[in-house]
Amino acid sequence: MSDPKKFILLGATGSIGESTLKVLRKHPDKLFLLGASAHSQTEKLSDITNEFKVPLAHLTKKPKDSTSFDPSTRLSHGEDALASLASHPEAEFVVVAIVGAAGLRPTLAALEAGKDVVLANKESLVVGGKLVTETALRSGARIIPADSEHNAVFQCIADQPHRSVDSIILTASGGPFRDLTAEELKGVTLESALQHPNWSMGPKVTIDSATMANKGLELMEAHWLFGIPPSKLEVVIHPPSIIHAVVRFIDGCCLAQLSPPSMTFAMQNALLHPHRFPGVEPSLDFAQPLDLTFHPPPLDRFPCLRHAMDALKQGGSAPLVFNAANEVAVEAFRLNRIGFLQIPHIIEEVMNNIDHSQPNTLDELLSMDRNVRQLSHEYIRSSSFASS
Ligand code: NDP
Ligand code: MG
Repeated sequence: MSDPKKFILLGATGSIGESTLKVLRKHPDKLFLLGASAHSQTEKLSDITNEFKVPLAHLTKKPKDSTSFDPSTRLSHGEDALASLASHPEAEFVVVAIVGAAGLRPTLAALEAGKDVVLANKESLVVGGKLVTETALRSGARIIPADSEHNAVFQCIADQPHRSVDSIILTASGGPFRDLTAEELKGVTLESALQHPNWSMGPKVTIDSATMANKGLELMEAHWLFGIPPSKLEVVIHPPSIIHAVVRFIDGCCLAQLSPPSMTFAMQNALLHPHRFPGVEPSLDFAQPLDLTFHPPPLDRFPCLRHAMDALKQGGSAPLVFNAANEVAVEAFRLNRIGFLQIPHIIEEVMNNIDHSQPNTLDELLSMDRNVRQLSHEYIRSSSFASS
């Protein structure tokens, strides 16, 4: 039997981090956690590094107290050290489970160092898709999709050549507000937006699911991962989240991937690719009735998805602008500074008022990202709907 594969887990304290650790607990003979990172949750990170005897730990924010870490764990902090951890010479692959555009820099660092990346952080492809995919191509590193829809596509395409793929259909549950009328959507609260009917996820992606911005980000992610033009990417509503994606081939045959709505399935597939081993959780029970219905997305009631589709078609820096405005708007919603329906308004305003440049390098991307965030904050402060 070969040695366990050494890997780095960035964003270990989050929801995807947790799913990754469940796979690790199930398969300690196949995986070894060499390094784990978090942003500021010091205690939670030290619980992880102590449980799995992780040699390297990292916090982006300097911790006030690091005594909870076992002395055998080496702790670092700051953004430069995060990029160093992502490119650690002993790491065989890197899992990027950080939330938001903060995932871009470490993803690039890992790929530049030739490390395969198991990518949950969709925002890094949304913001820097061209740079990220070109970097992977240049270094020969692979990007293995961990987002459930993209992992499903990855499984369906398998070894088929690119020219055989006609189109990709991503399924969306529609989130907690799928059946609400436009009038009812006006009154939704933060608490209800944080209650996803099927998936247990971190707060940002849960709110993105409620606005359906998440599916928009996933279209952009699919565009870069699979090299498919926007016109050949579709979204359908599939409430139970059992079918995660469908690939239509040029001969008209469609392949779909099915599993229960839990991220351990996609994570295990990505972490242990190309091998299959017993999963963490029970599979589907086909003796029970399974709801496999689909219907078109309600773009009129979910403008975030429409704005994302426009940004994808526009290309260039438009997806970056969509993402940064969305991140700021979601944060403002989480702080109760704006209402649910103001999220798409802010995105639209910012997309219409920003100077679209063509950032190419990491520094240019990060600089534009900062400008868009600043404009988004200014817009929220100056607009009549800000409550403070
Ligand atoms: P969480 O909010 O649960 O976790 C985020 C992780 O990132 C935490 O470890 C957090 O550390 C860390 N983090 C936050 N901000 C920073 C920063 N500025 N720099 C470095 N690290 C940071 O998110 P999720 O696990 O839900 O999502 C992670 C990514 O995976 C997102 O891009 C999401 O879209 C994607 N995804 C998530 C799915 C899910 O089921 N959750 C499904 C598919 C994709 P700390 O805890 O210290 O704050
Ligand atoms: Mg997804």
